Amino acid sequence: MSVLRRMMRVSNRSLLAFIFFFSLSSSCLYFIYVAPGIANTYLFMVQARGIMLRENVKTIGHMIRLYTNKNTTFNGTDYPEGNNSSDYPVQTTTYLPENFTYSPYLPCPEKLPYMRGFLNVNVSEVSFDEVHQLFSKDLDIEPGGHWRPKDCKPRWKKQRLEFAFYVIEQTGTQPFNRAMLFNVGFKEAMKDSAWDCVIFHDVDHLPENDRNYYGCGEMPRHFAAKLDKYMYILPYKEFFGGVSGLTVEQFKKINGFPNAFWGWGGEDDDLWNRVHYAGYNVTRPEGDVGKYKSIPHHHRGEVQFLGRYKLLRYSKERQYIDGLNNLLYTPKILVDRLYTNISVNLMPELAPVEDY
Ligand code: BGC
Repeated sequence: MSVLRRMMRVSNRSLLAFIFFFSLSSSCLYFIYVAPGIANTYLFMVQARGIMLRENVKTIGHMIRLYTNKNTTFNGTDYPEGNNSSDYPVQTTTYLPENFTYSPYLPCPEKLPYMRGFLNVNVSEVSFDEVHQLFSKDLDIEPGGHWRPKDCKPRWKKQRLEFAFYVIEQTGTQPFNRAMLFNVGFKEAMKDSAWDCVIFHDVDHLPENDRNYYGCGEMPRHFAAKLDKYMYILPYKEFFGGVSGLTVEQFKKINGFPNAFWGWGGEDDDLWNRVHYAGYNVTRPEGDVGKYKSIPHHHRGEVQFLGRYKLLRYSKERQYIDGLNNLLYTPKILVDRLYTNISVNLMPELAPVEDY
């Protein structure tokens, strides 16, 4: 009996010790797992605060100069001389009058009368049924959310462009691969129509300005220049995340996104490199036009892709051996009235890469 009690005592203690060490080691592992994400966010916040502080000091300095020197006035514009800060939205373009008449033979204009600028973005949740209900009377929407204007040569609906929506979802057990999903979306969209422009859009980013024209140009474009989560400041010059767009020709020329970025981070930096190695520059919307709200949710649980720094060092070498040209996959496609849903099980074997 006493032997049994002694055994019980020992096993109770070892059980407690086991639980203690197990929780200690799992907290340690969890910390190692989330630390880069936290550090990254924190670094941007510190950087953003620094930039804001500098801008404020500049603005105060400017104001003092304006008030102390009576001869210095505004230089014939609404904006103080030499100030290209985004706090003064630059209005270099004229938007069309309300009574503008479209012509079915001419391309739809880009500066439409009903583009008012600032949008009040509401991030409260709505169900898909409500969205369907909202568009139920829009009989000119074809399956997949495909719409084209009839009164002029096509552009997106609100902006009079022809468009369709593709929602690409990842299944399986591998870490998230944003870049590979975009490559899949691109390849599938190309089978449906002769699209000439593609916008790669994070689903959690909502534009705050309807003058942010979702069309392509001579150069690849970074639409999401000012994110609320980075205090509306570009976190770094090469930032190309959130929402970016390229002509089909540009995207094919750069061989699409890299497929090798598993987990959070780096794939947008690699796209930036690809674009520049192919001889392009990136344009961004002016002033506050590129403002976005991001739906708050926690990225912290996501796997950080720690190998991204090494891959980024070899962007150039990998550009033409990893991308659109080495990707195979089997998609599951569902065409809804408002969008096409593509779900795909992604695995590294689907995009084999030769040695470089
Ligand atoms: C990552 C990018 C990300 C950026 C902003 C960088 O460290 O590599 O993928 O877009 O941080 O969050």
